[in-house]
Amino acid sequence: MSLLTIKKIPRFRGYFFFGNLKPALRYCDVHKTEGGSVLSEDLTKPKRRIMNWGLAVSLFFMAGLYSCDRPETNMSAGVSDNSGSGQRAGPDVSRRSGPTVPKRSMNYIPIRVYLWESNSITVKTPDVSSVVSVRDSESNQENLSLSAGSYYHLYRNSDIWNLEDKYGSNILPEDLKNANILEFQSRDSNPISVGIKRVKPYLGIIQCQGGSASDGFAVVNVLDIEDYLAGVVPAEMPAYWHKAALRAQAIAARTYALYQMHCGNQNHTGWDIGSGQASQVYNGLLGQSRRTNEAVHETQGLVLTFGEPGEEKIFPTFYSSVCGGHTQDAAPVFGLAIASLNGHECYFCQGVAPAEKYRWPEVAIDKDKVNDLLLKRYPALRRLDRIVDIKILEKSEYGRNVRVELIGSNGKTSRIRGEDLRLSLTSKETPILSSWFRLVDDGDRWRFTDGQGWGHGVGMCQCGCQQMAMLGRNCVEILQFYYPDAVLLRAY
Ligand SMILES: [Zn+2]
Repeated sequence: MSLLTIKKIPRFRGYFFFGNLKPALRYCDVHKTEGGSVLSEDLTKPKRRIMNWGLAVSLFFMAGLYSCDRPETNMSAGVSDNSGSGQRAGPDVSRRSGPTVPKRSMNYIPIRVYLWESNSITVKTPDVSSVVSVRDSESNQENLSLSAGSYYHLYRNSDIWNLEDKYGSNILPEDLKNANILEFQSRDSNPISVGIKRVKPYLGIIQCQGGSASDGFAVVNVLDIEDYLAGVVPAEMPAYWHKAALRAQAIAARTYALYQMHCGNQNHTGWDIGSGQASQVYNGLLGQSRRTNEAVHETQGLVLTFGEPGEEKIFPTFYSSVCGGHTQDAAPVFGLAIASLNGHECYFCQGVAPAEKYRWPEVAIDKDKVNDLLLKRYPALRRLDRIVDIKILEKSEYGRNVRVELIGSNGKTSRIRGEDLRLSLTSKETPILSSWFRLVDDGDRWRFTDGQGWGHGVGMCQCGCQQMAMLGRNCVEILQFYYPDAVLLRAY
């Protein structure tokens, strides 16, 4: 199959899968613009037209995305550590010049990113001459200013905030001690560093949201979505990977983030998206580089949508490290039947993925441990007494385990997703990298053999994305391959 031939699948019609969405969110803020390329001059010369892309695409504003950087000559780049599961990014190739953070001149779209929950954190104010204000986010009243280049220790005790300076004194005024949410913001928009042991710098506002049940509190970073994406791309993809791959990653990450902000099934109200592998890895300013920031800036506001012209909707653009040769339907994993998230063959990741990720080595786990791990993750499985057998109920046509049945010593059964089985059992010692394996009953242990791929396999395959880019495909072609029938639009 020619690499340029994009498999066309029937357009998904009808929106019943999204019937519960609020009307305002169906289309979110997605709209077409009539022009005004955001792309830099050297990127505005299309080299190749692609076929079958939705008619709704405005070729004018997308023109720059057709630019096709030549493959980087270092083919080993990116092989060592794909970051779809949140591994470290590659070396900062532009360290000498330092990262530049793209600043949008258009509307500010704040996203609330959950960093972690803790009982205490360290806050470091910017080194430069900058004042950090601390305020009660509900009353919006500034009550305290912190000086530059200083460390503070924040913790909560019996619902009372304590912000200690280097002398160990609680410097918070009385009304701030009882606030529900404390906010730290630099008046000069300089990054504030926070952390539990080591601090990391973050742009925007640091919110500390007090819990009602304990002294723990959630630390949430509120910042512009484009600044947020500048912290996601290098955490999800090595910064030295091909520019077209980085652009595709930026668009997928932007769409996913907007979907989570507007349409996600959040069981909390304090934030929009997490910062770990369960959503998109976000490391603040850490690891940002000129190349990744440019990839975000060059694709500013662009998102993937599906649907009829004028009725397009964003969708959760899942992606994972290595699909192992075939991407996975979203329906059995995430319950979303969208044509653009249907699985199909991937001819590309084998060329980039580490061999032990593309085909991972056999893993064996004692049955007792399997029982313990599953019960720990799913306490409801105690109704089975002990799990004595596992049956594969449903496999995808190419081999991923979609649904499995757990059989208890008391004869009762429970069914879980194949993805949940592997997520329950995988660890550093027993790395079951995907749900694509053959399960073998080996007496007192289970063997997970013939494993392929790394991650859930839905949507874009990041290693395949890099290989396509190295073969000369531009970011639009890459996205079209992994999200067939999707339409690229500008959300803002
Ligand atoms: Zn792949």
